[in-house]
Amino acid sequence: MSTGATERLADQLSGTPALELRRGASLARLSTFRIGGPAELFAEVQEERALLALLAAARRAGVPFHLLGLGSNVLFPDEGVGGVVARLGGRLRAIRIRGRTVSAGGGAPLGQVARRAARAGLAGLEALSGFPSTVGGAVYMNAGSYGTEMKDVVCSVRLVTAEGGRCRKSMADLEPAYRRTNLRGGGAIVTRALFVLAPGDPAALVARIEELNARRWQALPSGQPNAGSIFRNPPGDYAGRLIEACGLKGATLGGAQVSPKHANVIVNTGGATAADVLGLMRRARDEVADRFGVVLEPEIVLAGPLADRFVT
Ligand SMILES: Cc1cc2nc3c(=O)[nH]c(=O)nc-3n(C[C@H](O)[C@H](O)[C@H](O)COP(=O)(O)OP(=O)(O)OC[C@H]3O[C@@H](n4cnc5c(N)ncnc54)[C@H](O)[C@@H]3O)c2cc1C
Repeated sequence: MSTGATERLADQLSGTPALELRRGASLARLSTFRIGGPAELFAEVQEERALLALLAAARRAGVPFHLLGLGSNVLFPDEGVGGVVARLGGRLRAIRIRGRTVSAGGGAPLGQVARRAARAGLAGLEALSGFPSTVGGAVYMNAGSYGTEMKDVVCSVRLVTAEGGRCRKSMADLEPAYRRTNLRGGGAIVTRALFVLAPGDPAALVARIEELNARRWQALPSGQPNAGSIFRNPPGDYAGRLIEACGLKGATLGGAQVSPKHANVIVNTGGATAADVLGLMRRARDEVADRFGVVLEPEIVLAGPLADRFVT
């Protein structure tokens, strides 16, 4: 997959400081599902200035732009993605602790932030330490676990808007709800988040992180690539319970399987395609709708044309 506009953009941006470009990077390698064709142009952006330059150039050239965190909540198409797929690195991954405040770049791994905070005697992030995520991806999704959501611990965020502006917003401004914020569809990028945490005992906080993570891996499939929960829980119920009640635990399509351990997780047993995953998702959605009258909505981000393919 290659278009002249993206080629020209790559040429124009080559040599830009704090910007590393790679043509045709494998999205399978950049996502926890291990599924997806190439990114036409992959960019690792190490400073906010480079991000602004990249966004402006892509906008001028009419080239699509996608932001990627750790790729733990996204399904990429088998044919790959046109335009630019960017990831935050360098300074946009830095973590700084001062007093009770933790400032973390949008590209910082959330688990690392939680462990650094715990070791510094700062409590609040322990429950959010066990799933693969960047800080920015977790803000975008208002990710949550064991009763703590990002909205409970993030005080404010620094954003670069799709139009190339910069602003600071409180977490409340992002209207966080169950696994969503108003960042969805808006194109703004979280370049930094500020957490204000409570004092705690470092050893006890680190022990709590270990305990919660051990509990998590008992409930989730380990060793098989996946993207966590596939569907949002419907109000008052659990997507996993409904899918399991339809007898779909262990159901397979090609290389994709509804996890025998957790029915709201689809695993890649080896060589699964996006079409396999999407086919299983449609089957689960349709059987749950027929049996319970509940329409399950994807929690994972279906990249490019996959959202339309899921609906049809
Ligand atoms: C084994 C496993 C367990 C999981 N358990 C949980 C869980 O307990 N709770 C939970 O909430 N989730 C869970 N997830 C899902 C996933 O880890 C989270 O949703 C996570 O927050 C996604 O972050 P990411 O950096 O990987 O984002 P990606 O998957 O890379 O991207 C997701 C979306 O966020 C956007 N995004 C990424 N970075 C930014 C940024 N800097 N600014 C703006 N938008 C951005 C992307 O454009 C995309 O639309 C799990 C996933 C796995 C694989």
